[in-house]
Formats: sequence, C-alpha cells, structure tokens
Amino acid sequence: MVSISVRQISQDFGGNIALEQVDLDIHDGEFFSLLGPSGCGKTTLLNIIAGFLEPTTGSVFINGDDVTNLPPYKRKIGMVFQNYALFPHLTVFDNVAYGLKVKKLSKKEVRRKVEESLALVQLEAFQERMPKQLSGGQQQRVAIARALAIEPSVLLLDEPLSNLDANLRKDMQTELRLLQKRIGITTVLVTHDQEEALSLSDRIGVLGQGHIRQIGSPLDVYRKPENEFVAGFIGQVNLLSVKKVASETDDNKTVYQAENFTMSENEPLKLAMNKGSELEETTSLMMLRPERIRVVAESLNELYNSCKVTVVQVSYIGSSVRLTVKLQGKGEMLILVPDPVFHVPPEPEQVITIAWNKEDLILINQEETSS
Ligand code: ATP
Repeated sequence: MVSISVRQISQDFGGNIALEQVDLDIHDGEFFSLLGPSGCGKTTLLNIIAGFLEPTTGSVFINGDDVTNLPPYKRKIGMVFQNYALFPHLTVFDNVAYGLKVKKLSKKEVRRKVEESLALVQLEAFQERMPKQLSGGQQQRVAIARALAIEPSVLLLDEPLSNLDANLRKDMQTELRLLQKRIGITTVLVTHDQEEALSLSDRIGVLGQGHIRQIGSPLDVYRKPENEFVAGFIGQVNLLSVKKVASETDDNKTVYQAENFTMSENEPLKLAMNKGSELEETTSLMMLRPERIRVVAESLNELYNSCKVTVVQVSYIGSSVRLTVKLQGKGEMLILVPDPVFHVPPEPEQVITIAWNKEDLILINQEETSS
C-alpha cells in the first residue's frame, strides 16, 4: 500500500494564488478527504497529486518517490470525476477495459480484470449495457470500476457523488467506504459536503483560501476546531466573543462574559467553563454548537450558561427542530433540538429558557486573517 506526501506546494494561476505552501501527509490505506468551500483549492491540489497540473513550486511524493515531474499515467493513480466521464459510445465492459487495453494486456487478462472490477461494484450483470442505459449511481460505479481496473496505488475522487440525488448519494457513500476498506487502497476525496467528509473519512484536511486550516479526525475537526474558519465551516455554530471575568473565576470554574450577547441592556451573558480548559488570552472566541443547547424549565435561574430568549423562527427538519432565538438584550443563537423532545414545538414570539453545560463551551483561536 501507498502513502502520499505533498511538500510546500504553491499554485499561482497568473497572480491568482490557488494554493500557498501546502504540506500534507496522507497515510497508507487511509481514506482522506480534502474539504472546503468553493474555490479554496481542493481540485487544484488533487490535480497536482494526480499529475494533471504541474505546481508552481513544491513536490509530490507517492510512497516516498518524488513524482512531481512524472505524467499521470506513470503515477499509478485511479481517478473518478464528478461527471463520471464515461465514454458514451462504449459498453460498460469496454469502458472498464479501456485503460487495460492501452496497457496492451492480453485479451484474457483484460477480461479477468474487467470482471473482477465490475464484481467489486456489483455490476457484473451489466457488462453489455451502454452508459445511457444505466442510472446515475450505476454510471458512477462503472467509473469507480474503471479507475480500479488498472490496479492503481491510490484512488483520487473529485466530488464523485455530487451529481446523485440525496438518497442514492447516502447509499453510494456507504458502498464507497465499504469498498475502500475492503481493498485497503489509499484514497483522497475532494468534497465540499461536510457530512460526506465527516462520515467517510479517517481524516479530513480542511482547506480555506489555499491553506490547510486543520487536519484531523472527523471528531477532532467537529469538536475541537483549531480556528474560527474550521468552526464556522464544519457544521453550524454559535460564536461568542468573550472576555475573562477574573473576579468571578474560582477554583472550580473560569467565568467569561460575552461581548456580542447580552441578557438585557446592561447585563452581559455569563459563561462558565471548567477550570483548566481555558486558553491563555483574556479575550477570545468561544464556540457553542446548536445541538448542545437545551430548552429547560423557566424556573431555572442560573447565573451562568443559561438565559431567557424569545423564539424568532422555527423550522421543522424531521429529525430535529431548528430554532433561531433572540436574547433579551443583544444577539441571536441557533438551537437544534431532537424532534421527540417537543410534543409541540415552540412558536415564534414565545419566551423560553435555554441552558448548556460547561463542557459544551469550546474556546478557539482567533485568526490573524479571517476569511
Ligand atoms: P470547487 O469546489 O468550486 O470546485 P475548488 O476548491 O476545487 O472549488 P479550485 O478549482 O482548486 O477550487 O480553484 C482554486 C482557485 O484557483 C479558484 O480561485 C479558481 O478560480 C482558480 N483556478 C483554478 N483553475 C484555474 C486555472 N486553470 N486558471 C486560473 N485560475 C484557476
């Protein structure tokens, strides 16, 4: 199996810097996702790894070998694109056989490898069909079989599921993950879909404006974002700018007051964290995920981590109810409550009390450059 390393890669498209000094190590057999908003440089980085694009500066290593100057066909990569890129005039068999015939393998070898690859994606029975006689999901499976037929060292996937409808996409995600685990091939997926990256990957590299903003497991990037960009891009988030209140901090808790949330005109929202979990700075940014906030009994009269709010908007999204609420002084928060919690969801204008635990508050680094 094979690892990929990217060292100090920059890409300058005539003054438009798509990537800047990117370093990245993708481990042997790993499912790694490059995740980020449109235009952040994901596809550029994948194309550089594939060899379709020569970087302005920097090097790419596959299994320790410097492949920066090798053409794509010498890098032993399998690539799957968003639009499948099947040859419309060739049967499923011939599409999958294409790369093998280019390699001038014997007819017998070609047949064996095509059949093996189609079996991997469970399309053995479809060999004689033309691409237009297949569903979108089946076409994408043919594209995956074609990529795997040449027995590549690494599999590179550029938004391969984004043309599929929501249900099929979920099924294909599961299939893709199982297939990747079964054959153990080092895989890099480009996606802008956070849920896809979180559910499929061993690790995720979050890209923003040509820089890697964080590399970590799905759990790490969601629960412990290293900066504001990652906190804001992955999932929904309430961000509070906070200032430490030394006079109320004691052995059990560190107390902060929010600058952008107030309970009434002169009363800042107070937040308490477990002692020891704080950063050095006295002012910082704090993250509170919407699903960590609870709607509680009105009688709760806590000094910290709770406040009265007015419901502004209610959206029923099936598995949960999403509430936008307004504090009685300043600031709006987003709350996600699992559906069964409410017999009847709250109505706009209703006043409710919300609360969260000390552990639900996460301090994150302020960035020098925000995007
Ligand atoms: P998307 O999710 O929209 O596909 P992406 O993260 O894959 O976006 P890239 O396609 O890598 O982004 O593009 C990164 C930046 O480089 C963008 O600003 C884009 O306009 C620019 N870019 C990409 N290819 C070229 C090119 N051939 N010439 C000039 N600029 C380019």
